[in-house]
Amino acid sequence: MSSSRSSWSKRSLAAQAMGHVDPITKAVVPPIHVATTYIRDEDNAYSSGFVYGRPDNATIREAEEVLAMLEDAEAGALLFSSGMAAATAVFQALNPGDHVVASKVMYWALRNWLMTEAVRWGLVVDFAETDNLDALRAAVQPGRTKLVWIETPSNPLWTITDIAGAAAIAHEAGARLAVDSTTASPFHTRPLTLGADIVMHAATKVLNGHSDVVAGALAGAKADEFWARVVSIRKMQGAILGPFEAYLLMRGMRTLHLRAAAQTKSAMDLAVRLSVHPKVARVLYPGLPQHPGHDIAARQMEGGFGFMLSIQLTGGEAAAIRTAARVRLWKRATSLGGVESLIEHRASIEGPGTPCPADLLRLSTGIEDVEDLYRDLDEALKPA
Ligand SMILES: *Cc1c(COP(=O)(O)O)cnc(C)c1O
Repeated sequence: MSSSRSSWSKRSLAAQAMGHVDPITKAVVPPIHVATTYIRDEDNAYSSGFVYGRPDNATIREAEEVLAMLEDAEAGALLFSSGMAAATAVFQALNPGDHVVASKVMYWALRNWLMTEAVRWGLVVDFAETDNLDALRAAVQPGRTKLVWIETPSNPLWTITDIAGAAAIAHEAGARLAVDSTTASPFHTRPLTLGADIVMHAATKVLNGHSDVVAGALAGAKADEFWARVVSIRKMQGAILGPFEAYLLMRGMRTLHLRAAAQTKSAMDLAVRLSVHPKVARVLYPGLPQHPGHDIAARQMEGGFGFMLSIQLTGGEAAAIRTAARVRLWKRATSLGGVESLIEHRASIEGPGTPCPADLLRLSTGIEDVEDLYRDLDEALKPA
């Protein structure tokens, strides 16, 4: 099997969670390993390689193997207790005084963390409009910048950063490039193959896909000193994912290709139809040719442009809040990437200082019938 494994497609390998079969029962679904401790050999060694539950776990390793395969990650993947735990581990692997450049438009909780905790930790953080490579180049300080952090497509405006271009700028300055690829997922984009050093996922979202697990992940291009520090931070700080969550995530990743393909198809369909809707002033979706990041997205995303889009309403903030209140099939909730479609007035949750316009509704497209999704939105958009 191992000789042919490399020739199977990612979709085939993911569908079978790498084809592991339980050696005792021959079960096609591996058991969940819940033990926190393991027997030492008589000669005092740990021949199984497992010692204690905080640093490592067999169920975690199995799910990590699937993600490492999906991301072409030579250093492998690491699962964390949340997306935030995964992201912050990367910043904590830096040294006080290190300079960081991050996308101006990005996941709000991480932006908040960078502006508060990261600064207390001694990091110097600048935000740049990374969808403009000249702006990124101007923000990077050669020799002093150690990490460039981008998110693409980025929340909630779905701006696109050129990953290969950002990697070249980061590397020229002696910095690493990390990519929050949560909304692209490995179905559309594999940042490590485009020159990124680390890819991060809120696995809570489309990787798991069923809105029933909070999890985070990192995948690394090279098992270098920096990666070893990230590994050690997860181990020492106890930020590993629980085995039951890892099992659910592994089950979710088996169907990533089917879900992501259906979701991106419906999102494109909705984007096109909503862009001519009289109550919609603007649709933000990288799949539309008028989107400023469309050409780059077409280059670095395969199989479509993702399941996330935002709409700005002609009626402004009041109309946005009213529309979110009137949908019946779309669920009015935060988060994204699940099989159920979610709608959210994003500015309300991000609070003061957000770059998110007040008239914006964020849509996470699920796998429901796209005709139902459109009809529900259309009815909610109509005046009462
Ligand atoms: C949700 C999300 C995160 C944070 O993940 P959690 O699992 O909620 O900690 C980070 N980045 C993006 C793009 C997200 O959507």
